Amino acid sequence: MPFKDKTMRALYIGRFQPYHLGHQLVLQKISEEVGEIVIIIGSAQESHCLENPFTAGERIAMIYGALGELRDRCYVIPLQDIKRNAVWVSHLISMVPRFDIVYSNNNLVVQLFSEAGVAIRKPPLYRREVYSGTAIRKLMVEGGDWRSLVPVSVASVIGEIEGVNRLANVSKNDAVL
Ligand code: NAD
Repeated sequence: MPFKDKTMRALYIGRFQPYHLGHQLVLQKISEEVGEIVIIIGSAQESHCLENPFTAGERIAMIYGALGELRDRCYVIPLQDIKRNAVWVSHLISMVPRFDIVYSNNNLVVQLFSEAGVAIRKPPLYRREVYSGTAIRKLMVEGGDWRSLVPVSVASVIGEIEGVNRLANVSKNDAVL
């Protein structure tokens, strides 16, 4: 049952490699349900590889540019991974503003927050077969139309940093997307 509580603050975590229109639709849905949103850029230490081509700073710029009117209701915070899943929720809580509920469809994220007693909502999946980081990175490497699958600001950041060339170059070393 959807709820609207403008006093609540939600946490929305992703790798956002890159931030795409599926992520954006989830963000819009969350914004209709709560007052503020803490957007966590996970795996912040990762970049320049096929699964994680973009730095935390580049991902911040992508998301910040896509926020529009939501900008003054969102925090965008990078968070490095740690090797111990069992204490990851405590690690995250120590690094971010207080939040009341987590939005995620990632099974590990849902499991860890559930075990910690944190309320979880699973947002709907939007056109998952195309709005998918893996599919979009593949289109980039293969010269397909990835721009129509991301917000304009994201395409512009990727253009500025020559992200497609970067991905093509690092993909020569890795076997899978
Ligand atoms: P992601 O960018 O793949 O996805 C972010 C969210 O968007 C997910 O909930 C996903 O289900 C959702 N999503 C993606 N496409 C969608 C679509 N088309 N429609 C609707 N929703 C869509 O990021 P992720 O892999 O879920 O990020 C989890 C992060 O948490 C990672 O960085 C991971 O490393 C981190 N993590 C770290 C630890 C640790 O450090 N021990 C433990 C758990 C998780």
